[in-house]
Amino acid sequence: MKLNRNYLNLEESYLFSTVARKVSAFSAAHPEAKILRMGIGDVTLPLAPAVISAMQAAVAEMGKKETFRGYGPEQGYDFLRESIRGYYGRRGVDLDADEIFVSDGAKSDLGNILDIFDRDNTVLIPDPVYPVYVDTNIMAGRQIVFAEANADNGFLPLPDAGVQADIIYICSPNNPTGAAYSVEQLRAWVDYARARGAVILYDAAYECFVEGQGLARSIYETEGAKECAIEFCSFSKTAGFTGTRCGYTVVPKALRREGVSLNKLWLRRQTTKFNGVPYIVQRGAAAVFTEEGEKQIRENLSVYRRNAKRLCDCMDALGIFYTGGKNSPYVWFRCPGFSDSWQFFDYLLEKANVVGTPGCGFGKNGQGFFRLTAFGSEETTQEATERIKNLWKA
Ligand code: PLP
Repeated sequence: MKLNRNYLNLEESYLFSTVARKVSAFSAAHPEAKILRMGIGDVTLPLAPAVISAMQAAVAEMGKKETFRGYGPEQGYDFLRESIRGYYGRRGVDLDADEIFVSDGAKSDLGNILDIFDRDNTVLIPDPVYPVYVDTNIMAGRQIVFAEANADNGFLPLPDAGVQADIIYICSPNNPTGAAYSVEQLRAWVDYARARGAVILYDAAYECFVEGQGLARSIYETEGAKECAIEFCSFSKTAGFTGTRCGYTVVPKALRREGVSLNKLWLRRQTTKFNGVPYIVQRGAAAVFTEEGEKQIRENLSVYRRNAKRLCDCMDALGIFYTGGKNSPYVWFRCPGFSDSWQFFDYLLEKANVVGTPGCGFGKNGQGFFRLTAFGSEETTQEATERIKNLWKA
């Protein structure tokens, strides 16, 4: 018996546990303090009524012999794949339903996709970014190189012709920086990947926040992307499914390497190791794309967008450098007067009783930066921005 010793190379993730420990120590010492939590990346608004009704109807179906369902198709029911196809179609991206694979969320697929790639590939990962990409590749013992994201490139690194990579991660809009690529910028990545026969793993979990002219919501808006990119998306941030669990991955049939279709490999992987998302959840997810569902979800997203705008206005008023907030629920800013993110965390907690997320937890280039989320309530966001403004005015 031999362990996968690559797991021993993982760095312990202390980010959120340290945040929690510091907050509880502070609140024990200052029981009167009203602490505002602006750190977590989870949604707070409930599921839309259209989603709830669809799930309730599906529960009733499951309770009747005539409409009961057992195992479903591993890659998702046709009704949901067709709805997702329509969603892409309305944005000018033509997909076939069998290029869409429904799953229990983007995180699982981002990890599982690595099953279809050999260990002997070099992966290129932006720094800073969602830590799952780094950790899943460490688990597989794969070599990692980093694309440096920093204030100079607006946290949107472009390909470096001198860097050799086989698998390229792109997260846009990015967690944690909120920076979003334009279609034009993605073209540079698509050209780079195609020239090298590399594959792009494109994480579009926050695409629903993109509004800006010329910015991409899907990598397939870029010509040639179907020949080099797999796209991951989720109902988590779009429709509040973080606890309900549903996402989807697009593997175009045009994506082939070594004469093999990656769509076929992923289908084989999923039908072997995955048994599908609950019917009830898929009915709820399909309701997201109905007229009523879309309207209700737009209202929820507009609450988060208003919060993000408040945070941006606060940074503008204080003259602090930041990215995100405009096409993203995250505002990522340079810690004013601090070069260490944790020292800034302590300062903000102590002086304003506001909790955020230290940027250094997302990669070395996050040092000296800080993430605030727009997923809180309007009241909390309003009060937090007031406190931050007052702190800097003082
Ligand atoms: N991708 C990014 C960039 C995320 O920030 C998150 C969650 O925070 C996920 C994926 C996970 O999405 P899901 O809830 O669908 O697993």
